Amino acid sequence: MAWDFSTDPEYAAQLKWAEEFVREECEPLDHVIKESHDLNDPVRQALIPPRQKIVKEQGLWATHLGPKLGGPGYGQVKLGLLNEILGRSECAPIIFGSQAPDSGNSEILAHYGTPELKARYLEPLLDNRIISCFSMTEPQGGADPKVFTTTAVQDGDEWVINGEKWFASFASSASFIIVMAVTDPDAPPYERHSMFVVPGETPGINVLRDVGLGYQPLGGGREGYVRWEDVRVPADHMLGPRGGAFVVAQTRLGGGRIHHAMRTVGLVKRIFDMLCERAVSRFTQGEMLGNKQLVQEMIADSWMEIEAFRLLTMQTAWKIDRYNDYKLVRADISAVKAMMQKVLHDVSARALQIHGSLGTTHEMPFVQYLVESFVLGLADGPTEVHKVTLARQILKGYEPSPDLFPSEHLLRRTAAAEAKVTPELEGIKR
Ligand SMILES: Cc1cc2nc3c(=O)[nH]c(=O)nc-3n(C[C@H](O)[C@H](O)[C@H](O)COP(=O)(O)OP(=O)(O)OC[C@H]3O[C@@H](n4cnc5c(N)ncnc54)[C@H](O)[C@@H]3O)c2cc1C
Repeated sequence: MAWDFSTDPEYAAQLKWAEEFVREECEPLDHVIKESHDLNDPVRQALIPPRQKIVKEQGLWATHLGPKLGGPGYGQVKLGLLNEILGRSECAPIIFGSQAPDSGNSEILAHYGTPELKARYLEPLLDNRIISCFSMTEPQGGADPKVFTTTAVQDGDEWVINGEKWFASFASSASFIIVMAVTDPDAPPYERHSMFVVPGETPGINVLRDVGLGYQPLGGGREGYVRWEDVRVPADHMLGPRGGAFVVAQTRLGGGRIHHAMRTVGLVKRIFDMLCERAVSRFTQGEMLGNKQLVQEMIADSWMEIEAFRLLTMQTAWKIDRYNDYKLVRADISAVKAMMQKVLHDVSARALQIHGSLGTTHEMPFVQYLVESFVLGLADGPTEVHKVTLARQILKGYEPSPDLFPSEHLLRRTAAAEAKVTPELEGIKR
């Protein structure tokens, strides 16, 4: 019987080291590096690789990977505790070798790549010598893959890709793009697409523009709007079976969603710290904000929501380790995914409110966090879809009531109770 919320002392020491390292060595970099994925930025190259080396020496590099791929294979609970710490800083995941989308893309290549593709792309990717892109979403819709129209047509030993993709993060600078395209238009909807790995420099990959998020300046951004024009890729660059793109995509999505949640726990705790610091720093009407009951309610609500979110995230991580089958934790992952957006949104909004006018400015990060809460509610499936998945999974465990009235109808329950206990009550005055 194990029902334990403690961490073994050896790993606890690693976490303590990571916490200090992230605070002292990663968080400052967030304020001087424009884009932590930009391998062409000399400032980034001067600051990040030396820190990656320290993390490797500490044995905390790429902890999401098993030993075959150069990671320690810690499992999801240990990963969750570490990711919470990394979530505090934009640069920390890349310094610890676990940044999206490369982490998910490396899992796809490890599962489905040929030995040549692994040598060419997986090894340098795991070492962060290159970066990658995953491209599924199209301008006409991302939440419904049935509307995707980008095609790949076979021509001898090659496939020829045509179409438009949108929100392909890092498409401009990636060494390769994992792209989903329709190869079998007459097959059932979820067997129409195949997955390809395409070298970034292939002629015909035309980035129309890099779209920026609301808080980023016009002209900035990293979400590629890409037109694919007669892009030729060798036949052995198909990943997984023909028509199997959705199965391949699942390789990255299950883990990807829970890892985002783990990092969000850390981020939201950091925002909570900002909220509380302000509550004890700012005075109005003769007393500090933290003495006002409505502010205390914000603090209590935030704390309860963060703790509930953290526990659900860690319990899901524990179930993944225990069952080793993402299908068995589908409902849990959907719940965590949906909760993540709400907790980040609500705590950021309260922190912004407590900071008053300062909270609305670009001198504090709350507007960015609010936008990011919506990003978390969109990417890897909208919140609505995850709630539907959760509800459907839950309802699978229920049967309809035996007749017109609910099984808990009080008259029914009383009649059943009477039938059960009447023999025992014989001779007792009621
Ligand atoms: C910062 C960022 C990075 C991204 N990176 C990538 C990437 O690297 N690669 C990639 O392929 N994609 C990426 N995406 C795209 C992301 O996966 C899509 O935004 C997402 O799939 C939703 O698609 P959409 O934006 O077209 O919204 P739509 O499909 O138009 O949906 C819009 C809204 O409709 C509602 N909705 C949709 N479906 C349902 C439903 N079934 N029931 C009820 N309501 C529904 C939801 O509120 C949803 O937000 C990224 C997005 C963002 C914001």
